[in-house]
Amino acid sequence: MVRAADRSGRNPADVRLVAVTKYASLEAVRALVELGVDALGESRPQQFAQRVAELDAPVNWHFIGTLQRNKVRLVLPHAALIHSVDSLRLLERVNQVAIELGLAPRLLLEVNISGEKSKHGFTPTALEHDWDQLVRSHPGQIVGLMTMAPASDDPEQTRPCFRGLRDLRDRLARRSRQIELSELSMGMSGDFEVAIEEGATLIRVGSALFEEWSPT
Ligand SMILES: *Cc1c(COP(=O)(O)O)cnc(C)c1O
Repeated sequence: MVRAADRSGRNPADVRLVAVTKYASLEAVRALVELGVDALGESRPQQFAQRVAELDAPVNWHFIGTLQRNKVRLVLPHAALIHSVDSLRLLERVNQVAIELGLAPRLLLEVNISGEKSKHGFTPTALEHDWDQLVRSHPGQIVGLMTMAPASDDPEQTRPCFRGLRDLRDRLARRSRQIELSELSMGMSGDFEVAIEEGATLIRVGSALFEEWSPT
């Protein structure tokens, strides 16, 4: 992480690691927290809620996976940040539950930069089109954007995707003073260095951290 930040002239402190624990045992997660990792991510609502309860440690929990609207209530009270708000309908649901529970959640909008059918998220075109309205109805909660790059053995292949997210962020941020969009969640085990070079502020790393502990 530090090397990639240095290479691109960035301050390493501006990039934060979210340790994705979905394949890790509770013991492995505890060990990582002991080492000082303070941001953990889960991608399934049920496991997210279970892990929050089981671990009982002063860490920030990030929700990073697909969120069905009927699971918002399960996730919202414990999420320091939801990375994966992938539609207007979900955003509205999150907003509604937040008001009900008296919460002010921090959210990232997931964008499908690569255009792959298998990926979730707003299309860049739709987001640019709906942006002004979106800012009016959800001020203060949307703190950035997230994307998933196409799977590839060659990290360089992911660069255009990460750069695309950053450019989109820059364009949207220029249009609205109320929303800063300071966070860019991009980069996983295979491509986090490229993501950092392209401006990631949050990287979501699972297998690279937990491989040694995994039973397989
Ligand atoms: C699993 C997952 C990750 C971590 O993937 P690794 O390749 O194991 O680092 C990151 N982001 C999301 C959304 C995930 O579901």
